[in-house]
Amino acid sequence: MSAVESTDVLVIGSGFGGAIAAYHLAAGGAKVVVLERGPWVTADEFDHDFLLGSSYTRVFDFVVGDGMSILGGNCVGGGSVVYFATMPRAPGFVFERHGSIGRRMWPAAISRETLDPWYERVEQALPVTQQRWENVPYAGGLWAAACNHAGRTANPAPSAVDVDLCTNCNWMMAGCKFDAKRSLLLNYLPGALAHGAEIRPLHEVQHLTRTGDGYRVHYRIVDDEDYRVLHDTGAIDAKIVIMAAGTGATPVILRRSEPHLGAMPPAVGRYFSGNGERLNTAVFDEDRVRDVLGLERPDGQAYAGYQIGRGPVVANWDHLDGSLPEHERFSLEQLFFPPGLGTILAQVPDGTDPLWFGRDKKEMLRRWQSWLTIFIMSEDDNEGVFGEPPETGNAVRLSQQMLGTGPLRYEPTENTWRGWNLADAEIKDILERDGLARVAPWTNDLVGAYTVHPLSSCRIGDDPATSALDDRHELRGHPGIFVTDGSAVPGALTVNPALTISALAERAMPGIVRAARERGVAVRYAGSLPEGEAASRRPVHI
Ligand SMILES: Cc1cc2nc3c(=O)[nH]c(=O)nc-3n(C[C@H](O)[C@H](O)[C@H](O)COP(=O)(O)OP(=O)(O)OC[C@H]3O[C@@H](n4cnc5c(N)ncnc54)[C@H](O)[C@@H]3O)c2cc1C
Repeated sequence: MSAVESTDVLVIGSGFGGAIAAYHLAAGGAKVVVLERGPWVTADEFDHDFLLGSSYTRVFDFVVGDGMSILGGNCVGGGSVVYFATMPRAPGFVFERHGSIGRRMWPAAISRETLDPWYERVEQALPVTQQRWENVPYAGGLWAAACNHAGRTANPAPSAVDVDLCTNCNWMMAGCKFDAKRSLLLNYLPGALAHGAEIRPLHEVQHLTRTGDGYRVHYRIVDDEDYRVLHDTGAIDAKIVIMAAGTGATPVILRRSEPHLGAMPPAVGRYFSGNGERLNTAVFDEDRVRDVLGLERPDGQAYAGYQIGRGPVVANWDHLDGSLPEHERFSLEQLFFPPGLGTILAQVPDGTDPLWFGRDKKEMLRRWQSWLTIFIMSEDDNEGVFGEPPETGNAVRLSQQMLGTGPLRYEPTENTWRGWNLADAEIKDILERDGLARVAPWTNDLVGAYTVHPLSSCRIGDDPATSALDDRHELRGHPGIFVTDGSAVPGALTVNPALTISALAERAMPGIVRAARERGVAVRYAGSLPEGEAASRRPVHI
């Protein structure tokens, strides 16, 4: 083991929660080190293929749990490198949710109104812009036309994509080659670097121990090609630790640290939410698209355009209505989803047993260009619980990149199924009307439910029994440890969560800066945003 280094602030993870903290603390004058378990990949290295060793397999992390699988980012920039950049604010009713605990889940200090100024800051920094109908690709137009035909509404969603730079290449998931997607590699992270922060890729944090005036963070170096191989160990002392390793990782690191730090609050690793997520895939009848919806392209095709365009651009928000009962509110977003899980999990319409292969499945796959995937985000019951941490890392890695099995257990409750069933029925009603399409629901039988929006495994709240963090994001009983990633969000949001995760991180910053000052760090809250020179700087390898 190398000699122990020291820093003022140690940030674990470089996604939304980590990048925002690193930027503000560095901009305020603190010495900041960011440890990130994944590689540092930039636009010139993003590939347009699915080959092993391409950016696609290097930057993703797919962890199969018992009843719930999580897809996330694994690189500098975290989920922002792989995300679809759809960035809506959460509706006001979300903050009033009770879930299953019989009281308001969110801290009294936070409502949509009090979070709005922090949302605004992130929207300005990334930046986020409202998409316009003239920029909507075919898949979004089809979803909008089908909603309109069924008497529903549809809206272009706010997005962190620069449409002037976007080529609609449809490879945004493997990292945007054109820097059109406003990932954290283009704003907060270069801003943090410009203020002297250090970012160290391929450093996987294992656990924390205590020092006289702070914490020691223990890491292992991850092999660049085979993530199952861990090399050297090392440790860094810090007065303040920001946990931002993501919802699937933060509780694992904290639970592994328990023998060294003492008991964790009971909510660490409990109340996990998959953001009520579920997918349906519809196979359209091209003739009906032409005849019923009147859609036609210059080349004579009606749609046949599944492969063309960006991620989610058009959403149906008719059920984001605060007067509806909890668990009956959801949004329906049109989504591009590439081959892979999509082809396996989408089931033949009206099939009785899940089918991975066979004649009917083959016929369905043959028509892949006429597919439209609809993404449900509803209100689940925070029913996920993490079991014992694996020996190292956040999961047992099965393949050299991307795939692992993790300690999360998730058994959907009746409440969760109520939302999913209502949303499934709504999608069927919209898309099968007048023979437009056949809807193929996704099965939960292979990898359980599935989420790209894991939340709440270490959440903020006012009640110590059901929240791991206070409303300043400090870990109860462990002063100086703060959590700013998706795990801090109290529950499902009914919309894509990255903007809310980021707004909460922005909101937490003045308090974290104050805590750092109390521990002797010379830092102030500058309140600036990564703009201008910093935002246009490309990150460099160090
Ligand atoms: C395909 C896909 C599409 C998405 N599209 C959208 C979208 O359109 N809109 C939206 O709002 N959200 C979207 N999301 C979700 C969004 O990416 C996440 O909600 C968001 O990134 C979570 O932020 P975070 O700070 O919690 O963690 P992350 O962004 O996941 O960052 C955590 C970081 O910590 C690192 N890490 C993990 N363990 C360790 C460790 N032990 N040591 C050091 N580092 C570690 C990880 O490698 C990662 O880089 C999408 C996600 C996926 C996978």
